Amino acid sequence: MSRRTRRPHQSASRTASRNAPDGAPRDCPCGLPAAYDACCGRLHRGEATAATPEQLMRSRFSAFAVHDDAYLLRSWHPTTRPPAIGADPALRWVRLDILGSTGGGPFHTEGTVEFRAHWAERGRTGELHEQSRFVRHDGAWVYLDGVVSD
Ligand SMILES: [Zn+2]
Repeated sequence: MSRRTRRPHQSASRTASRNAPDGAPRDCPCGLPAAYDACCGRLHRGEATAATPEQLMRSRFSAFAVHDDAYLLRSWHPTTRPPAIGADPALRWVRLDILGSTGGGPFHTEGTVEFRAHWAERGRTGELHEQSRFVRHDGAWVYLDGVVSD
């Protein structure tokens, strides 16, 4: 999931070093019935790594939701990683629906996740429907790229 696909402008003033999520939510934004601290928060803090592409996808959605730009950048493949996230502060990521995934096995080196990510911004709502590709890089799952459909 990349905001660049819909919103080409980037704010250079936001730096990648901002890693303290402001107002960390109690329920995990990724949609699993768990507290943020015990779910994606563990990945964001570096206490756990994603075991599957789907888990990485969920943690990246949560990172968009809590504005953890540092996590988004380090879970992005170096060949496709943007210089900065440049998220719109008015845009809120409100819900994630995972539609399907591949490559969840321990010996898989590539995988895909199809999802719908729902957002709200200044009274408008919408969704991003994307098929994302993930690969293992230095042993860890990272986001490679994605194809957006309507
Ligand atoms: Zn989570």
